[in-house]
Amino acid sequence: MAYEIRTYGDPVLKAQASAVTEINGKVARLVDDMFDTLYDSDSGIALAAPQIGVQKQIVVWDIDDEAKTIINPQIVESDGEWVYSEGCLSIPELYVDIIRPNHVLVRGLDLDGNEIEIEASELMGRMFQHEIDHLNGVLMFDRMTPEQRKLAMAEYRTLQETPAAPARRRRLRLT
Ligand code: ZN
Repeated sequence: MAYEIRTYGDPVLKAQASAVTEINGKVARLVDDMFDTLYDSDSGIALAAPQIGVQKQIVVWDIDDEAKTIINPQIVESDGEWVYSEGCLSIPELYVDIIRPNHVLVRGLDLDGNEIEIEASELMGRMFQHEIDHLNGVLMFDRMTPEQRKLAMAEYRTLQETPAAPARRRRLRLT
């Protein structure tokens, strides 16, 4: 079942998600619902549970037709620097060039409860950083310079006030 995606201003997006202590049927159903919501979205590639209002540390993604899940993910190492025009399903239509580390090492659990480690760079690396931020109540705005934030907030407000144009910008979007 697809959920409505929570958008900027919803307090759930500012909250710290709690660790999953038991991977049970409820978690499996939640993951299914997260994928339904992701596939229902316009060009999203990943989703964190708080974006559907659930304060649990779960991230799903689908890059290159591989649907994957990680539970209680943490970035244990990061290095390099990469600029990417980031977007967020919870901040619709806004894209901002954000600098973050390029490479990350992520540790967490798969749906069977096995510990997994994933090395990721560029788009995949960015996706993990963006989604794990969601689990910590951190949004794209918090990763911008003060000057970028001011401009982005103003642009976002304008976008929200403008009725949807028939040809909305369709671009790859993190969520
Ligand atoms: Zn997002």
